Amino acid sequence: MKPSIPETLSPRLAPLDLDHRLLLVREFIPGRIVFTTSFGVEDQLIAHSIFTQGLDIDVATIDTGRLFPETYELWERTEARYARRIRAVYPQAAPLEALIEEQGINGFYKSVDARKACCHVRKVEPLSRLLAGVSGWVTGLRADQSQARAEAPLIAFDETHRVLKLNPLADYTRDAVVAAVEEFSVPINDLHAKGFLSIGCAPCTRAVLPGEDERAGRWWWEEDNKKECGLHVGDDGVLRRGAPQEASL
Ligand code: SF4
Repeated sequence: MKPSIPETLSPRLAPLDLDHRLLLVREFIPGRIVFTTSFGVEDQLIAHSIFTQGLDIDVATIDTGRLFPETYELWERTEARYARRIRAVYPQAAPLEALIEEQGINGFYKSVDARKACCHVRKVEPLSRLLAGVSGWVTGLRADQSQARAEAPLIAFDETHRVLKLNPLADYTRDAVVAAVEEFSVPINDLHAKGFLSIGCAPCTRAVLPGEDERAGRWWWEEDNKKECGLHVGDDGVLRRGAPQEASL
């Protein structure tokens, strides 16, 4: 049987650095590739690589409407630094209005289901539109960000969105990412210096305490095994690691 793209690319990607991983992916995968950034330190490093190499990879973000002021400021600073526009996708007005009508403006604190409903309207549905018709999806996932992400591969087929999902920093440590960001003077979120390691929506993110994992500040009021927003999980709520055998674009 002909090997799938993940089976072919995984061993070729493994020894490469970030720049060469993105280059190889762009050369190998036909069609549109989208990188979704939430302006975390990993995302900033990937954006730097895409912009400085001039790669034909769309850089886009989901503006949930509840981001930190520091994140909007970084967004603007990033566009100015690289002279590139970052495409924004927004929640649809009608479902958002219905959500707020039903659960209130901060209803996501009431229950896990309420929080997931908010994440669905503000993040998951916009992501589906963003990935429609796309061949490759680049993300800033790292395996050591949390237990739930421990087995994140460099490349796999995402069944939910029917797209090749590329995590070019999957095997990087946070220290390695931070070192690269400092080396290239990549702009980063001011909140990182205040203990916010993983930054999402403002009402759902707090600073991390010493000894906690990087994503402990996300939805801190919930149990650990439920703390994904739905962007990287399947219908069963489990993080998608992909199915290499199904991808053969
Ligand atoms: S992180 Fe919080 S505010 Fe943002 S979409 Fe999810 S529940 Fe809503």
